[in-house]
Amino acid sequence: MDAETSDFIRQRIAHDLASGTNTSVVTRFPPEPNGYLHIGHAKSICLNFGVAAEHGGKTYLRFDDTNPVKEDQAFVEAISEDVAWLGFDWGDRLTYASDYFEQLYGFALELIDADKAFVCSLNAEQMREFRGTLTEPGRNSPDRDRSAAENRDLFERMRAGEFADGEYVLRAKIDMASPNINMRDPVLYRIRKVHHQRTGDAWPIYPMYDYTHCICDALEGITHSLCTLEFADHRPLYDWVLDNISANWHPPQIEFSRLGLEHTVMSKRLLLQLVTEQHVDGWDDPRMPTIAGMRRRGVTAAAIRDFCSRIGVTKQDNLVEMGLLDYCVRQDLEASAPRGMAVLEPLKVVITNYTAGPVQLTAPWHQQNESLGTRELPFSGELFIERADFELEPPKKYKRLSPGEMVRLRYGYIIRCDEVITDADGLIQELQCTYFPDSKSGEDTSGLKPKGVIHWVSAQESEAVTVRLYERLFSDASPDKDNFLDALDANSLTEVSARLEPALLTAQASHFQFERTGYFFRDSKLERTFNRTVTLRDSWKP
Ligand code: ATP
Ligand code: MG
Repeated sequence: MDAETSDFIRQRIAHDLASGTNTSVVTRFPPEPNGYLHIGHAKSICLNFGVAAEHGGKTYLRFDDTNPVKEDQAFVEAISEDVAWLGFDWGDRLTYASDYFEQLYGFALELIDADKAFVCSLNAEQMREFRGTLTEPGRNSPDRDRSAAENRDLFERMRAGEFADGEYVLRAKIDMASPNINMRDPVLYRIRKVHHQRTGDAWPIYPMYDYTHCICDALEGITHSLCTLEFADHRPLYDWVLDNISANWHPPQIEFSRLGLEHTVMSKRLLLQLVTEQHVDGWDDPRMPTIAGMRRRGVTAAAIRDFCSRIGVTKQDNLVEMGLLDYCVRQDLEASAPRGMAVLEPLKVVITNYTAGPVQLTAPWHQQNESLGTRELPFSGELFIERADFELEPPKKYKRLSPGEMVRLRYGYIIRCDEVITDADGLIQELQCTYFPDSKSGEDTSGLKPKGVIHWVSAQESEAVTVRLYERLFSDASPDKDNFLDALDANSLTEVSARLEPALLTAQASHFQFERTGYFFRDSKLERTFNRTVTLRDSWKP
C-alpha cells in the first residue's frame, strides 16, 4: 500500500518504523467476551491484523475479561471462531486480561507505595457527588490522605476477601479538579465477589478497564494501541498509568472512528436485547449485523475484508450504506458462484405438444467461467415458471410470457402461451403452452425471435425447498437508540416454498446464483433451506 492510498494510522506506523521509534509492529484486537462480534468489530480486526501483517508483525487476540458478571466462555469461543473465519491468525497469541491479574495487582501495590493510589470508602452515590460535573471541579475524598502503609494494608485485605462488595475501591490519586473527568481520581479496582470464568474464585477484586487495558498493552509489547474515538478522553489516563508504573513500555493510543452501518444497530447491548427478547432468531440470525449472522446468510469473509478496506480508516464519524456491503458480496461471488434455476413463486406450465417422458438437457454452470463445468437440467411436459413472469394484460414492450406470446426457457426451448386456466376466483392456476422442438437452445433452427428469456424448472424433477428472503432489519436508516424496537421492519423475513432444479441440491459449491433472483446460501441449521444473501440488483455503484 503506498502513502497516498494509506490511512493516517498506516502513515503513522510507517513513520515510526522509518524513524526507528519501532523496529516491528505488534497490535491487538481486544474484545470483551460479552456478546458476538459485529461488522464494526470486523473493521477493527481488519485494521489491527492488517497493519501488522503488512509489516511482518504480530497481532494478539486478547479477551478483555475484567467484568465476569457479563462475560461468558461461550462468547470467547464464538469470537475466536469469527476472527479465524474472517481469515486472521493470532498464532499462539491468544491471551486474556485475566492472565495478567497477578501483575496488575503488583503494579497497583507500586502505585500505592509511591502514594499515587489510595483506598477509598465512599459509596457509589457519594463518589458521584464528589466527582463534580463538566463545569464544576470535583472534591477530594476524605480518604485521599491515608498513609501509603495504611492503603497497602487495606488493599491487601481487599485482595484477601475481607470486605464486602462496594465497601472499598482503589483509586488513582491524580487531580479532582482536572477538566477531564476521567482524571478525577478514577477507580482502579473494585470488590466483586463473583466467580470468574477463568480464574474461578481466586480474585474477590477486579481491575477496571482503563487500568487493565494499558498495562496489558505494555506487557505484550504492543507498538500501536488502536481503538475507537470514544476512548480519546481516556488517553490521558492510559498515559498516566504507564508513566507511573515500572512496566517500561508505553505504546501510543491512536483513535479512529467507529463504523456505523445504515438500517442496523451496532451496540452489543442493543444486539443482546434483540436476541434475548427474541426479535430475531439468535445471534446468528441472518438479518443480524453480527459476523455469525452474516456468515449464515452467505456473506463471504472476502466480501467483509473488501468492505473494510473500501470504507477506510479516518477520524470522521460515518454511516455507511448497506448497499456497499451488498456490492462487495456480488463482486466476490459474481465469477465464482455457479448459476442455476430456482422458481420462488411457482406457476404451472403444461406443454401440450410434449408427450415424451423427461429428458436431460445440458447447461453450463456459468456462462463466462467455463471452469465451473456443466450440469444436467431435466425438461418435461410439466414445468414451473415464476408467477411474476406471466402477465394476462402485459404492458407495452413486455419481454416475458403473456397470452399468445412467446418466450425462451433459459437453456431450453421457445414456448408460446395458448391458454390460461383460472379457478373460480379468477386466480391463474395453470398455463397451457406449446413448445417448438426445433428451437432448442444452442441448436435453434426455428427462426423464431421471442423477446425474452425466463427461468423455469421441471415440475416433477424439481426439488421443493424453503427460501428465505430478507429485507433490512430496521426500516429507518439510523434507528433511534432509545426507541430502536419501533424501527424494526416487521417484514424483514419472508419465507417462500420454492422449486429448485435438482443439481442445485447436489452440487458441491456453497454459494449459488439463482438466475435472476439473487445469490443464495444453504442454511447451516435448517434442512432444505436457502438464504438469499443479496439480490442481483445493484443499487450501489463504486
Ligand atoms: P460495547 O458495544 O459493549 O461498548 P464494543 O463494541 O466497544 O462494546 P468491545 O468488545 O470492547 O466491544 O470491542 C472490541 C474492539 O472493537 C474495541 O477496540 C472497539 O473499539 C472495536 N469496535 C467496536 N465497535 C466498533 C465499530 N463499530 N467500529 C470499529 N471498531 C469497533
Ligand atoms: Mg468496548
